[in-house]
Amino acid sequence: MKLLEERIVSEGKVLKGNVLKVNSFLNHQIDVELLNEMGKEFARLYKDESINKILTIEASGIGIACIAAQYFDCPVVFAKKSKTTNIGSDFYCVDIESYTHNTTNKVIVSKEFLNENDRVLVIDDFLANGCALRGLCKLIKDAGATLVGCGIAIEKGFQPGGKELRAQGIRVESLAIVESMNDDGTIVFG
Ligand code: 5GP
Repeated sequence: MKLLEERIVSEGKVLKGNVLKVNSFLNHQIDVELLNEMGKEFARLYKDESINKILTIEASGIGIACIAAQYFDCPVVFAKKSKTTNIGSDFYCVDIESYTHNTTNKVIVSKEFLNENDRVLVIDDFLANGCALRGLCKLIKDAGATLVGCGIAIEKGFQPGGKELRAQGIRVESLAIVESMNDDGTIVFG
């Protein structure tokens, strides 16, 4: 998506550890108009799929998911990072490694909000090694729901997550795919 690529080039900062910082429009301050265009694009890509639920993970996925959900006319469920180790039986639970924080979180979704009648689109801000998406896909499987596909704002194509998920037959649509980025700030798209 040209609009998103242009914003990444003009405002993105390349940090150590292959982290792309886009705090001015996606991860801290949010450009709602840009997210609206992204939401429309996800809706166009998945228009024939009868999606009735969007699943994301807190925190940065929530804004993108909510704006997209208006075009699908469906609710958003966000997986919560839980501090409790004793989760109980009312939740689906999975461990997800955080790329940016180098920690592992227990991530939960209430059984009340995900079930076998759901056709689910997973939305997130970034795709790197694929830990977040793999975890969300597992929650969908555990709930007996149908995973329709994933919608990602920015995929780092030089990291393995996207390739691995597609190789498993999962549909992954990324609005911008960064093929390489250097310390001098050069960013190349796929
Ligand atoms: P993965 O689980 O695919 O390795 O990483 C995806 C998650 O880590 C996303 O939910 C996102 O929050 C975070 N992440 C991964 N890479 C980046 C990055 O380059 N920049 C930012 N801002 N977040 C990232």
